[in-house]
Amino acid sequence: MLTHFISAEQCAACRLCCNFRRSSAWETPSLTPELADHLRSRGLPLCSRPDGSTTFELHFPKEATENFCAKCPALHPGSGCTLPRELRPIECRLWPLRLMRTQSGTLVLGLYDACPALSPTVRRQITQAATGNLLPTLLRIADEQPHTVRPFDSAYSMIWQE
Ligand code: SF4
Ligand code: SF4
Repeated sequence: MLTHFISAEQCAACRLCCNFRRSSAWETPSLTPELADHLRSRGLPLCSRPDGSTTFELHFPKEATENFCAKCPALHPGSGCTLPRELRPIECRLWPLRLMRTQSGTLVLGLYDACPALSPTVRRQITQAATGNLLPTLLRIADEQPHTVRPFDSAYSMIWQE
């Protein structure tokens, strides 16, 4: 999460982006090979994504309904993400910002509208940062970690496009 703008308390009360339905399991964060090696050595269960990158393995009980949410294995139900900030996947550190690509290949930046921490003020602050000082870093991430760039989704407000 963008911790400059969203507090740990807000995320603790929500946890939306650390729990996944079967239908949204493809959204579990992509890990660099170095990070995957490190997390594996800490005993976290990992698996491959269809695009060949590595992500967290989710556990869905056989009897789980479509609404069942599996938690990221790095999430502690009480205290939140167990990983220090520098060991969190870049997609988690950027959330509720997301790098996306439209069908025509345009790189865009989106803000996840359902994040309850996105007050008008926080939305404006994140937009200013993401389209200002943070933009070169975001473009470098898109270049160096292409698996973190997701298909465009209308659940996100587009705040920048290349
Ligand atoms: S959706 Fe927003 S408030 Fe909820 S956990 Fe994610 S970043 Fe935090
Ligand atoms: S790594 Fe941490 S922040 Fe990212 S989805 Fe898992 S518990 Fe949430």
